[in-house]
Amino acid sequence: MTIDQDWLMTQCEDLILKAERLLGRRDPNWSLGSVRRNPDGDYPRLHVYPERGYADILLSSQLDEGNRTAVRYELAHECLHMLDPCTAKESTNLCEGLAAYFQYKETRQRTKHEKYLPALEAVERQWVRLQGAVRHCRLHAVERKPMHMIGFTDIEPWFLNSSDVEGDLRFLTKAFD
Ligand SMILES: [Zn+2]
Repeated sequence: MTIDQDWLMTQCEDLILKAERLLGRRDPNWSLGSVRRNPDGDYPRLHVYPERGYADILLSSQLDEGNRTAVRYELAHECLHMLDPCTAKESTNLCEGLAAYFQYKETRQRTKHEKYLPALEAVERQWVRLQGAVRHCRLHAVERKPMHMIGFTDIEPWFLNSSDVEGDLRFLTKAFD
């Protein structure tokens, strides 16, 4: 990784702050360790160390580090996940849809991964109420839930006439695979 670490960390601080404005403050039990290349392949992800309370952002192995927009595009997705870090196995369509939504909001680049599009589109359709529902579940509910633990019955009460949006809500609260 030859990208200036100071620049990377400044970008992450800025993006995490913006993600917090959208969906509420991050889980204070977690902090960002470092930003580095993913040794396992050409995709970005978080590497979590739950017992030590931090996560590293891994950028895709082939990322063109001279292209700052491309770097910021990958950082935005992972910084949204930094609000409630989880392992990839725990991720839901809601987590991935919100990460893709934030990525687009911050860089004006829409994901080209077909795997992420249905989640992004469901988030976009339901965004107005979904934002309040997710903030509530993460921060204010009696049983506070990290993003990947939010289930259908947690968000459903936030939607009036939920019968017409039930499909989206059920899809969003399913595991992402
Ligand atoms: Zn993701």
